[in-house]
Amino acid sequence: MKKEITIVGAGLVGSLLSIYLSKRGHKVKVYERRSDMRKEKIAAGRSINLALSDRGLLALEKVGLLDEIKKISIPMHGRFIHNLDGTTAFQPYGKEGQFINSVSRGELNKRLMDIAEKNGVEIFFNEKCTTLDWDKDIMEFENTSAKQVPSSKADIVFGADGAFSAARMQHQIRHDKFDYQQYYIDCGYKELTIPPTADGEFAMEVNALHIWPRKDYMLIALPNLDKSFTCTLFFPFEGEASFSKLDTEEKVKTFFEATFPDAVKLMPNYAKEFFNNPTSSLVTVKCFPWIREDKFALIGDAAHAIVPFFGQGMNCGFEDCRILDELIEKNGDDWKTILQQYQTLRKPDADAIADLAVNNFTEMRDRTADPKFLLQKKIEARLHEKYPDKWIPAYSQVTFSPHIRYSEALKRGQKQEAIMQEVMKMEGIETKWEAEEVEKIVLEKLERR
Ligand SMILES: Cc1cc2nc3c(=O)[nH]c(=O)nc-3n(C[C@H](O)[C@H](O)[C@H](O)COP(=O)(O)OP(=O)(O)OC[C@H]3O[C@@H](n4cnc5c(N)ncnc54)[C@H](O)[C@@H]3O)c2cc1C
Repeated sequence: MKKEITIVGAGLVGSLLSIYLSKRGHKVKVYERRSDMRKEKIAAGRSINLALSDRGLLALEKVGLLDEIKKISIPMHGRFIHNLDGTTAFQPYGKEGQFINSVSRGELNKRLMDIAEKNGVEIFFNEKCTTLDWDKDIMEFENTSAKQVPSSKADIVFGADGAFSAARMQHQIRHDKFDYQQYYIDCGYKELTIPPTADGEFAMEVNALHIWPRKDYMLIALPNLDKSFTCTLFFPFEGEASFSKLDTEEKVKTFFEATFPDAVKLMPNYAKEFFNNPTSSLVTVKCFPWIREDKFALIGDAAHAIVPFFGQGMNCGFEDCRILDELIEKNGDDWKTILQQYQTLRKPDADAIADLAVNNFTEMRDRTADPKFLLQKKIEARLHEKYPDKWIPAYSQVTFSPHIRYSEALKRGQKQEAIMQEVMKMEGIETKWEAEEVEKIVLEKLERR
């Protein structure tokens, strides 16, 4: 039976979800707090980008959007490390031919909204969700320009309104024993820009994610289609080197010149941008339950906001949509079972990627510059090459293996890491890392655990 479905939030996940549901013939309405971004002008070079990888791509492919989105993506084959001494190194993300994609958040969102509307989805802008009351069967959206608060009804409601979800809050208020945890890390982030060169080219290697790892903090840069790079500085709020200490342009310049000397040469406006662009915080949100009978479910960041260090928040939200659709396929009209199974399947996976993402911060900002870590990665890549089914590096499980669940990737990753810690302690590992002896020990340990 066709349902009337309301989605709160026309962000990345709400828009993709609306496409999935409309393709199944449901009547879908989306209410979005912001105005229509397709009608707004965004200055060139200010696009904020995201890493889209295999889980997100698979979800897009399932609704026929892969080719459309690939047109606006730039492949990134590995990490391009910029050391403090001016040396650089390239670390491939996976095997030959494996890469992640830099895509503009705004462009992706606009395309998804266009495609949703082509599929019959109605999107209402400037409509902020204020009330979801299941007992009284009322939904209210305050129109932010007309200030009217009409109420409407739906058979099923999805809360896809992001990390600070109003839908989740409404669910929480009206649900007995609702578990909620939010956790801010002590680092925030700020976006800066590397514009194209004077002759209109990319200022650095385009097909890479650039990282300036500096132990307690890091700068990263992803390429944009307009040949600029969007840089993100992940930096402590407080402490010796921190946002609170860099309170004048002069201090910012002194710090950047000493810490990111090669990047500074490519960022003519960084000191101004540092004060013009906001400093934002990074939160992990875990909650339970995500659903209410056959009437309501949280999805995307509203259900599970995570920190961005594995580049998986959007990918995970897109995967939510794909898994939900598979459950609709399996269970037909039985929405109680669909939502129950959706929650049972996705909650452990969301918790796992949340933990993996926090752990990856240390790896990116600190370990990518450590020669021991690089050797470990080389050993793991070799094992993967020789035994592709037995040994898959944790990064590849998360990023390039959409059929391995996040919870499985976390478990397997922990087991492999424990083995690697022992291997890295072997005497003379620097010279004998390719020896059969090392390989044999790893395989034995793998069997035993
Ligand atoms: C710095 C940073 C870098 C990131 N990098 C990556 C990356 O490389 N790869 C990756 O996969 N993920 C990344 N992420 C995570 C990714 O941005 C999120 O996981 C993704 O945007 C979640 O999509 P969403 O639709 O659930 O939420 P959102 O994108 O937040 O969309 C929610 C929508 O709901 C609307 N809304 C909010 N409240 C209401 C309301 N009351 N009524 C109606 N509408 C409302 C909002 O206006 C918005 O349009 C990054 C996040 C950050 C912060």
